[in-house]
Amino acid sequence: MSALELTLLGTGSPLPSAERCGGGQVVSGGGTTILIDCGWGVARRMQQARIASAQLGGVFFTHLHSDHITDFADLLMTGWTGGRTAPLPVYGPEGTRETVEGFQQALRADVRYRLAHHGEKLWPGGVACEVHEVEATDDARPIATVGDIEVSAFLVDHRPVWPAFGFKVACAGRTIVFSGDTVKCDALVRAAKGTDVLVCEAFNFELMDRRIEWLKSSGNQLAAGLMIDAKTYHIPPKEVAEVAAAAGVKRLIITHLIPPIPASGDEIKEFVAGMSDIYGGEITVASDLDRYEVG
Ligand SMILES: [Zn+2]
Ligand SMILES: [Zn+2]
Repeated sequence: MSALELTLLGTGSPLPSAERCGGGQVVSGGGTTILIDCGWGVARRMQQARIASAQLGGVFFTHLHSDHITDFADLLMTGWTGGRTAPLPVYGPEGTRETVEGFQQALRADVRYRLAHHGEKLWPGGVACEVHEVEATDDARPIATVGDIEVSAFLVDHRPVWPAFGFKVACAGRTIVFSGDTVKCDALVRAAKGTDVLVCEAFNFELMDRRIEWLKSSGNQLAAGLMIDAKTYHIPPKEVAEVAAAAGVKRLIITHLIPPIPASGDEIKEFVAGMSDIYGGEITVASDLDRYEVG
């Protein structure tokens, strides 16, 4: 059995895609399972991956952009009706409490209806959470231990989104580092030093420019303008390769693909063109529901 198992639930962004959901990654180790981010479609992907919401030992938010949080309501509901009988531990940056309480408020009527209907079959605590708003610095430091899994957080640069975290997840001597959403930054290189797997976001400007031109020519100036703005707070593939090389990571997995290219076809090669000239390790462009064993 591997020390850590990683399941990529959602490998997309806020951009509409039939194949790539919003951000969401499950890590399992030593009998414990945690979820990192819960973007659109992630609760449904958990069903497909046969991972039970009720069994999650904790949820960790990198930041509070919609594509990392909006399936949290369904995660709460499937967890509660799936048998959860204790508050769900949730960790994230400042603002996490307000976000969690908003989802809980939206579900308040439903919780009332179900308790009235099912009575004692359901835990009376409903969709209760135990929220931890944590602080981070440029250097990864532990913020939580869940079973045998230790999670450390570090600050990345996704401004104006602030604070935004990357996470380092360790279990039985193996590590996975998650970039969260960020531009290239020293904190990511330092946190990823020698890690077994770096799971990193990437934004391919050339492929995106094609879509921007198409949007402009079809008269959708607003969408084109928003996509141009998005370039300022994400990391292009060649810089992802520079981070992986500088940190000496054993394996690189690319997720949060912008644009959300199809899971197969020529654009995958275009997306990573030139990366292997910079980083000599294995590079994988992830698809939703991909599963990896670490160690
Ligand atoms: Zn994002
Ligand atoms: Zn973001």
